[in-house]
Amino acid sequence: QQKDKTYKLSIMHTNDTHAHIDNVAKLATAVKEVRAAKPDSLLLSAGDVFSGTLYFNEFKGQADLEFMNLLKYDMMTFGNHEFDLGASPEGHQALADFVKNAKFPFVSSNVNFSKDDKLKNLYKGYSLKYKNGNIYSAMIKKVNGENVGFIGLTTEETKDISSPENVKFENYIREATKDVKLLELLGVNKIVAVTHLGYDDNPEYDNDLNLAKYVDGIDVIVGGHSHTQLNAPVVVTTDEKGKKKDPTVIVQAYQYEEYLGTLDVEFNKKGVVTGQAGQLIKLADKADDPEAAQLLKKYSSKIAELKNKPTGGVAAKALANPRGDTGVSVRSSETELGNLITDGMLDKAKDFNPNIVASFQNGGGIRAPIDQGDITYGDVLTTLPFGNTLATMKLTGSEIKTALEHSVSQEPKENGGFLHMSGMKLTYDSTKPAGNRVVTMELKNADGTFTPLDLNKEYVIATNAFTAKGGDGFTVFQNAYNQGRVTDLGLSDWENLRDYVAELGTVNPQIEKRIVDVARP
Ligand code: ATP
Ligand code: ZN
Repeated sequence: QQKDKTYKLSIMHTNDTHAHIDNVAKLATAVKEVRAAKPDSLLLSAGDVFSGTLYFNEFKGQADLEFMNLLKYDMMTFGNHEFDLGASPEGHQALADFVKNAKFPFVSSNVNFSKDDKLKNLYKGYSLKYKNGNIYSAMIKKVNGENVGFIGLTTEETKDISSPENVKFENYIREATKDVKLLELLGVNKIVAVTHLGYDDNPEYDNDLNLAKYVDGIDVIVGGHSHTQLNAPVVVTTDEKGKKKDPTVIVQAYQYEEYLGTLDVEFNKKGVVTGQAGQLIKLADKADDPEAAQLLKKYSSKIAELKNKPTGGVAAKALANPRGDTGVSVRSSETELGNLITDGMLDKAKDFNPNIVASFQNGGGIRAPIDQGDITYGDVLTTLPFGNTLATMKLTGSEIKTALEHSVSQEPKENGGFLHMSGMKLTYDSTKPAGNRVVTMELKNADGTFTPLDLNKEYVIATNAFTAKGGDGFTVFQNAYNQGRVTDLGLSDWENLRDYVAELGTVNPQIEKRIVDVARP
């Protein structure tokens, strides 16, 4: 490389692929085409490989990984969903296996693994020489004849929306600043951040636009999390005070292996970006790569079998799972599917403890609708994909009220922590300030009549382990958990739903005005 010439860095990137490996043979073709033209092009993943399809339920990331190894990914950072199995009996075993079997390293500047037995030994901090199957806070890689520095960042929101358990997320600005400085001290002046923060996500947590503004020295951000389709790179040229700064180029490639992102960046000899061009290559237009297509059969045949296996339950009608900040949403309103799931939870929990009065399911945990007709294993597993266990919890009436206030606090906006319920009914007023919305809470008696909840009495309720441990910001549940008032029954949610629909035979849940906003017509 002649010193007076500009330096060119070429990157391919994916993010939020979420176990959608049905597209992987087309991705393989696109990657090969780019490499044929630009042999030095890197291939990076900005996280969220885990969770989303039956491939994940069945193979726990190892199917995706086989293709990532085949395609020779160079590096990955962790998405929030990589921590989804933390609350399972195996803890972060699937993630540890994913890291160990990867033929590429992981970069992660703000995630603290030191309290997790499965992951802490894979974390090597900073090292000039990296090895595959390990995690580094920052890395230097020789690309096209020059050293390029890499850092990785994962959204702090992970603690609320996934199950990281003992894994902690440090402040992204602080950790990024520290690692960029370190790389610069080592003489690296071209720096790429591989991030799972979201492009313009909730700034109360973190996002790429703010990363570009607040942290000096990052030249390129390869992002994920917000599933943003950036058809062309975005260039940030001002800092947080609006002052001119060296350019930072941000890219993100939508989701589900629908696109391969490509980016070419030109640097001057000081390591300042002087030009960039990038695009998203649409994979639907590509032919299948024969080797990848052949390999996929091994996994897809297994999935097809599982998908079509009947549970014995038959849906009398389609059970929708609507989303959106206006109208009916599973994250802001009672739904037939929410009623079915909570009825199944209550039914199962009562086998263990007949005193249980009600059950709750977070709307954000109901991930897919169920079609009319035969309900298959595939339906049940895609509707409840997290492998949650059923937990019972002792709470006072007043604590239940606190939880229900939290549940309806964000309406009309969606809230992953909106609680569906069985065994009780709730009315509230969304025109009142958050925290002051609950109007009535009544428990259903065996004869079908209702009795008001007594704020001073202690009750036992059932919910999933994610919610019981305080997921979605339920601190009142988290307190009960920390005080030993939660019993995990160890029964997985999808198996409970499978058994419940089989028991019902004909599945026909109704809207019963269990949850009513008195302000809504
Ligand atoms: P992305 O796929 O880009 O990361 P996301 O998962 O961050 O999206 P959402 O689709 O809003 O964003 O999912 C977050 C919601 O998922 C949480 O609010 C929570 O309700 C639910 N959730 C996450 N993990 C679990 C779990 N283990 N059990 C039940 N619900 C969960
Ligand atoms: Zn995602």
